[in-house]
Amino acid sequence: MANRFQQRRHNVAYGAGRNENRAPIVGGSERGANTLQGQAAGDAGRVSGGSAGPAVKRARDPGFRDSAVFASPRVDEDVDLRAQSESIFSVDVEDWFHIIDIPGAPQLPQWDSLPSCVERNFMRLLDLFSEKHATVTCFFLGWIAERFPNLVREASQRGHEIASHGYAHQLTYQLSNTQFYDDVLRARKLLEDASGTAVVGYRAPSFSVSDWFFETLIDAGYTYDASVFPAPREHGGMRTNAREPYVIKQGNGHIFEFPISVVDLMGKPMCFSGGGYLRLLPYSAIRHLSHRVLDQGRPVVFYIHPREIDPYQPRLSMGMRRRFKTYVNLATTESKLARLLDEFPVTTFRDYLSRNTSIKGSTTHER
Ligand SMILES: [Zn+2]
Repeated sequence: MANRFQQRRHNVAYGAGRNENRAPIVGGSERGANTLQGQAAGDAGRVSGGSAGPAVKRARDPGFRDSAVFASPRVDEDVDLRAQSESIFSVDVEDWFHIIDIPGAPQLPQWDSLPSCVERNFMRLLDLFSEKHATVTCFFLGWIAERFPNLVREASQRGHEIASHGYAHQLTYQLSNTQFYDDVLRARKLLEDASGTAVVGYRAPSFSVSDWFFETLIDAGYTYDASVFPAPREHGGMRTNAREPYVIKQGNGHIFEFPISVVDLMGKPMCFSGGGYLRLLPYSAIRHLSHRVLDQGRPVVFYIHPREIDPYQPRLSMGMRRRFKTYVNLATTESKLARLLDEFPVTTFRDYLSRNTSIKGSTTHER
């Protein structure tokens, strides 16, 4: 029998033994619930029949890292997604030294002693958002919230959503399940204390996910995740055909997933709306690809780090390819963001979710 989800590195075939189902987040609450029920039935049929197996292309697509999950979720084509024209803008709030997997990069015990750029850069971003009347989601590192609780308060007071990027910025698949749980719970508590608001969203460092990832986030009290990167990348990447937001069901509840926006070009998923992709591509290309995503009824998920608008930040030593990707076009990114915010209405993940599905259907599981 063909499993819908397979994984190279872990023994557990992700999702196959957990009755995992996915459904797009669309329409109003009633519609979303119906879609979910229909999805569950559809998936059960697929698994038992074994007629729509996973899109497993291990040998042909070596770009996905070893922890990549192979999935072929069903999309309900009867649902009209085109009513949505709003995009989602997000900031991963961390410092210049929080670049993952660089040999010799400063580690957690050293961070306190380093000069910081995050305050000035994040405040510049907040001012830009105020100028453009944009409300965004801020995925704060717990460590940043501890050191700069003023930044969390300021973002919250300006109406932005406070969400979690975990505490210590480690690749999640390098942690044990328990370590990951502790990290994301600690960050959520810190951020809730600093902001005085509920924190319901999470994004993993470098979009790294693993087989127990979603289940543990549900246990740690999160309602949605924004860590799935449906294209090959150095530290993550999930093989999935799902492009729009969807629901992931687990044995302990369910969680909403907002994958990073990709467009399929010549059969290959391509990211354009954040990080090095956004800095590298000309504005005209980002604009064109964003409209393409919106025309398909999906929100564009934009993401940026405060350091990405700062050409004067200290530089870490790294290989040539990584250095180019990390530091290209730092001087022109702020003006690119300003143009994007002029042209594309944006909101937060939480507001998008509350407008497009019943948030009451989500699981907030306290331990
Ligand atoms: Zn990060």
